[in-house]
Amino acid sequence: MAVTLSVGIDLGTTFSAAAYVDAHGATQMIRNAHGEILTPSVAIFEQDEIIVGHEAWRAGEFSGGRVAETVKRDMGRTHYRHRIHGELIPPEVIQGCILRKLRSDIVNAIGPDFQVVITVPAYFDEPRRKATADAGLMSGLDILDIVNEPTAAALAFGERLGYLDPKGAPRDALTLLVYDLGGGTFDVTVIHLAPGDIRTLATDGDAELGGYNWDERLVEHVLSQFQDRYPQCPKPDNASQLRLRRLAEEAKQTLSARSQTTIVYNHSGHALVLPVTRDEFESMTADLVERTSFTTRQSLRAAGLLWNDINRLLLVGGSTRMPMIRSMLENLSGMTPDIHVNPDEAVARGAAIFARHLLDRQGTGGALPNLKITDVNAHSLGIEGINQKMRRKENVILIPRNTPLPKEIRRNFVTREFNQQSVQVQLLEGESKQPEHCTVLANAAIRHLPPGLKKGTKIEVWYRYESNGRLSVHARVPGIGKEAKIELERIQGLSDETVHQWKKIICRDGGFNEFEEALLELLEAGEDDEEDGDIPEDPPPSKREISLKPATAHGAPLAASEALKQKLSPLEGRTASSASAQASSDALQRQRIHADPPDNGATRTPQTVTGRRPLERTIFVIGYIVSSLLGLAIGYYILCWIRPEANFLHLDLPGIGP
Ligand code: AMP
Repeated sequence: MAVTLSVGIDLGTTFSAAAYVDAHGATQMIRNAHGEILTPSVAIFEQDEIIVGHEAWRAGEFSGGRVAETVKRDMGRTHYRHRIHGELIPPEVIQGCILRKLRSDIVNAIGPDFQVVITVPAYFDEPRRKATADAGLMSGLDILDIVNEPTAAALAFGERLGYLDPKGAPRDALTLLVYDLGGGTFDVTVIHLAPGDIRTLATDGDAELGGYNWDERLVEHVLSQFQDRYPQCPKPDNASQLRLRRLAEEAKQTLSARSQTTIVYNHSGHALVLPVTRDEFESMTADLVERTSFTTRQSLRAAGLLWNDINRLLLVGGSTRMPMIRSMLENLSGMTPDIHVNPDEAVARGAAIFARHLLDRQGTGGALPNLKITDVNAHSLGIEGINQKMRRKENVILIPRNTPLPKEIRRNFVTREFNQQSVQVQLLEGESKQPEHCTVLANAAIRHLPPGLKKGTKIEVWYRYESNGRLSVHARVPGIGKEAKIELERIQGLSDETVHQWKKIICRDGGFNEFEEALLELLEAGEDDEEDGDIPEDPPPSKREISLKPATAHGAPLAASEALKQKLSPLEGRTASSASAQASSDALQRQRIHADPPDNGATRTPQTVTGRRPLERTIFVIGYIVSSLLGLAIGYYILCWIRPEANFLHLDLPGIGP
C-alpha cells in the first residue's frame, strides 16, 4: 500500500519552497523542474498557458499586464493590485495557480500520494488565512491544514539541532524568539518548546513590511538621481520600473556580502551608473529596521519576558541575511542570532514536520500522543456593540490578541422587541475601540428566531477561533433547545461556490483563456481611466469602508445566502458564506460597490460581464446606489433618532461571560 507522504509548503511573497518527510523521518527539500529549492512566486498568464517560477520571473519585465508577483501582499483583498489582461483577479486565484505549479513539482519529485500543510505569517488576519486556504483548495492540493510560519520554523530548528525526539517532539524546555523577515511580510514570535508541547506565547508583525520595502528605497534613490541627472527624461513605464526593481534587489543582496555595489540603470537612451555603499543603504532604510526592532520589543513585552528568558534567537526569511538586521538584533538582545537552519528552508521543513504530526494523529484517530502545538491569535476578535452611555458604536473585544488557540467564548445577547425574528452582529478583528479602524470580518445574522419571543429573550452566541486561526460562530436560544441559524456573510473573501468554480478552471492546467469565461461570470471588472492599466489599491482590510447595515425586525436587508453554515470547519466550507451562485454574485456585487474603481461602461460590448447593455447597466447601477443610499439614510435616521438601538444585538452586560 502506498504511504501518504507529508509535505510542507512555504508560500512566500517572493519565493516559495516545499519539503517532505522521508522514510527515515528526516525532512528533505523538494527541487523544482530547474533543480532549485526556491521557486519565484511569480506567474505569467499567457492565453494558452500559465507560467510560474523562474521563467516568469525573468520574463516579467517584458510581460506588462500579464505578470503577477508579490501577490501574497494582496491576500485578503478583493483583487490583485494590477490588472491581468485588463481584468481584476482575486489574489487567491493567482496564488492557486502558483500552488498548482508547486504541486506539479512535488508530484514529479515524490509521486502523487501526499498531503500538505501550507504556512502563513503568524500575523495574517482571518481574511488572509481564509484566502490562503482557498488558494490551496483551488490548486487541487490535498490540504491538511495551514500553520503559522514561526511555529513551523521552530519545528525545523528543533529537528536540525536534535531538540526533537524521533517522533518530532521537543526533548527539553527552551524559549525561542523567531524573527522572520521575508520578501513581503514581517513576523516576530516568542515560542516555548517543552517536552510534548510547543506553545506560542506572543506574536506580532506587519503584513506590509518585507525585503520589497528595502528594494523600493533603492528604486527611489536611483529614480531621484536619474531625475536630477536627466530632468527632461520621461517617467519610466511599468517594464522599466520592473527592470529597476530587479536591479535594486540584486544590489541589495550584493550589499549583504560586500560594502559597495554599482547600479547601472538604462532608461530612454540614458544611462545612470550609480555606486551605492552599504552605509548609504543602511541609512536610507534605518526607519524600516527600527520598525522591526520596535515590534520585536513589543512582542517580548507581550510574552511577559526579558531577553534573559530567551534561549535562542532564530532568523527566518531571506531578508535576515542583511547585516543591518543581524547587528540590530545583536545590539537589542545581546545574543548572537542562530543561523543553524537555512532561513529559506526552515518554514517548509517545519510545515512538513507538522503535516507528519497531523497524518500521525489521523492514523491514531485521537490526540497527538506526544506533541501539542498551541498558537495564539495575532488580532483581537470583537463585535460591534453600542455603548449605551455614549450612544455610539464600539468594538467590544471578545477574544483578545495573543490568546492561546483554540478558544471559544460565549456572549449573551437579548432581543429588543417582542417577536423579533432576526438579529445581526458585526464581527470585527482589530485592537481599536472604534469599529471603523478594525477589519470587518463578517456579518453574523441570526435568523428565523421562533415566533412570539418576549422582548429581552436571551440568545447565546459562541465564537470560536480554531487552532489555525480560522473563525466559526454559532448561536442558541436557551430554554427552547434550538440552535439559531447563523448566516455568516463575509465582507471579504470568496464563497465556497466561487472557490469550487475556480478550482475546476485552475485544475484544467490551461491558460488565461480558461479564465475568461469564469471572469465574465464571477467578476465585474470595472474599467478605469489609468493609462498603465493598474488599479488603485484597495484600502488595507483594516481600513475598508463598510456601510451601516441594520437588520430589520423581519430579516436583515443584506440577506444574501440561503444555506449558510452554522459552523465553519477549518478547511472545508471555509467561507460559511453563500451556498448559492446567486448569493455569491450578490456578495460580489456588494463588494464591488465598496471596493472597485468606477466603471465607465463605455468600452463594454453588450455581451460582456453582466450581459446588460451599457445604458441599462448605468441606470441599474445608479438606481442601485440611490436606493441603497436612501435605504441607509432612512434606516440610519430611524436607528439614531427614533430608537437608536433597534434590532441590533445588544450585549446583555450583566450576563456576559465566557
Ligand atoms: P523569503 O520570502 O523568505 O523567500 O525572502 C525573500 C526576500 O529575501 C527577498 O526580498 C530577497 O531579496 C531577500 N533576500 C534573499 N537573499 C538576500 C540577501 N543575501 N540579502 C538581502 N536580502 C536577501
